[in-house]
Amino acid sequence: MLEADDVSVVYEGGFRALNGASVRLAAGAVTGLIGPNGAGKSTLFGVLAGAVRPAAGDVRLAGQTVTRHGPAWRARRGLARTFQLSRELSSLSVLENLLVARPHARGERLLSLLCARRAVRDDEAAAIDKARGLLQRVDLWRLADALAGTLSGGQKKLLELCRALMLDPRIVLLDEPSAGVNPTRIGEIVDFVQVLRQEGVTFGIVEHNMAMVRALCDHVYVLAEGRLLTEGRFDDVITNADVASAYLGAQP
Ligand code: ADP
Ligand code: MG
Repeated sequence: MLEADDVSVVYEGGFRALNGASVRLAAGAVTGLIGPNGAGKSTLFGVLAGAVRPAAGDVRLAGQTVTRHGPAWRARRGLARTFQLSRELSSLSVLENLLVARPHARGERLLSLLCARRAVRDDEAAAIDKARGLLQRVDLWRLADALAGTLSGGQKKLLELCRALMLDPRIVLLDEPSAGVNPTRIGEIVDFVQVLRQEGVTFGIVEHNMAMVRALCDHVYVLAEGRLLTEGRFDDVITNADVASAYLGAQP
């Protein structure tokens, strides 16, 4: 469904964050990407999503080479993502955060929605219905009018995931969905991803929480220092001695 083939990334200043990395996200599966801090995981997601331009290598989406296309183009073809640090619009309400995610949402329409509610158009009504359905699924509808900045870490992650889902994506990339989330609430994110996966959404997940990786991922890639160390089923890669030493070597 989504592939990076022999990708290298050189940041300004010459730092080589990826050095010939390849991953493949199979349709309908949840694919994990793990590795120590600085390994290049977020960079690789940036390359897959189109936000980071690789110095070498290619990205294919549903078999088509998309390396030269940016994130908006890829989003229109079903690729959505969330970020390691939540990027909710803190001064908009929970509901408004989803409404601005619509592919053709325009500022003037948002303004008309905010300022002149009588002028709500059909597509806006449909978007509100869709947003309500998503927010109800993650128990955030009761907070629809709350400012997004007031949500807990876990609620912000769920809100970001719902915002990605407003685009009806076929593929969703989640960068550290458990980061900043109270451990007792990580299960809610796991459950929602599992349900979406059963509905046919393909996932790529960067994650440090190994219980979450074990619960969700069909296949796991291990990245270290910009290169692929190994790949396979979680239980197999996690017992790999090279993987253990890559993590230990990254300890301060
Ligand atoms: P990970 O997500 O695995 O922790 P990243 O992909 O965020 O790793 O970063 C990989 C390496 O690239 C790190 O050493 C990081 O400091 C560096 N890096 C990330 N983004 C940039 C950037 N925009 N400019 C320069 N260096 C960067
Ligand atoms: Mg990262």
